[in-house]
Amino acid sequence: MKTWIPDERFLPYRTWKEVDALPKDKTLIVLPTAAIEQHGHHLPLATDTLLNNYLLGHALRKLPPDLHIYALAPVCYGKSNEHLGYPGTFSLSRDTFIATLRDLGRSLHAGGFRKLVFFNSHGGNHALIDVMARDLRAELDLTTFCLFGGGGASGLSEQEAKFGFHAGEVETALLLDATPELVHTDRYTVNYIRKVGDPGTLLPEFAYATYAWLTRDIAPSGVMGDPNPATAENGRRWCSEMSSRIAAALVEMYAFEHPSRP
Ligand SMILES: [Zn+2]
Repeated sequence: MKTWIPDERFLPYRTWKEVDALPKDKTLIVLPTAAIEQHGHHLPLATDTLLNNYLLGHALRKLPPDLHIYALAPVCYGKSNEHLGYPGTFSLSRDTFIATLRDLGRSLHAGGFRKLVFFNSHGGNHALIDVMARDLRAELDLTTFCLFGGGGASGLSEQEAKFGFHAGEVETALLLDATPELVHTDRYTVNYIRKVGDPGTLLPEFAYATYAWLTRDIAPSGVMGDPNPATAENGRRWCSEMSSRIAAALVEMYAFEHPSRP
């Protein structure tokens, strides 16, 4: 898999003696979590995994060099059962995903580290990561953090900002910048599950009244959004803005102490 993570920030490139010599109490370890799943007719299965690495890699390059913040190898497979039935989607069950995060958290703890951040780029993992961050805090006394993507993309239409959440303009633009050779610009499909201003309050997500959805229920092509306006130029700008926000959050997490700690 392509990587944008700088070698000096990639923990698996070190020896165990080098890792042992790190200031473990304050070192912040980043565990990327993503997915291998359908992303419409025009984007690769690895979209969430590539975007995770691309945004995190740019963020890590913006950190002050003296901070001990390192990325682990990613958990590329996520809980993607909403996309099952689309060939190429490989999903972990809820229990397997949770057990994987718990085992990696335990390994981190056994190595003497105390601070872990999940950097997640797949919506289907979101709820489970919240659960595991709390559980690892409670079970192992780790200081845990959640970082979901890079915040919103500026300048989107209201329609795309609200209902463009899978293989739409933002993901397409970011990959047009990161890996243009993997974006099939002649195969775009457009699908909105509803229009801004449509009556009713029941939504698939991001609302107080939601329904559980499978992709086949709401988006036969696999796309939720409109990739047509995507440009590499916007992708580059959004990467810059998002990676700056991610870097700022990592710096804040690095300095964070629970107020109750002596
Ligand atoms: Zn995606």
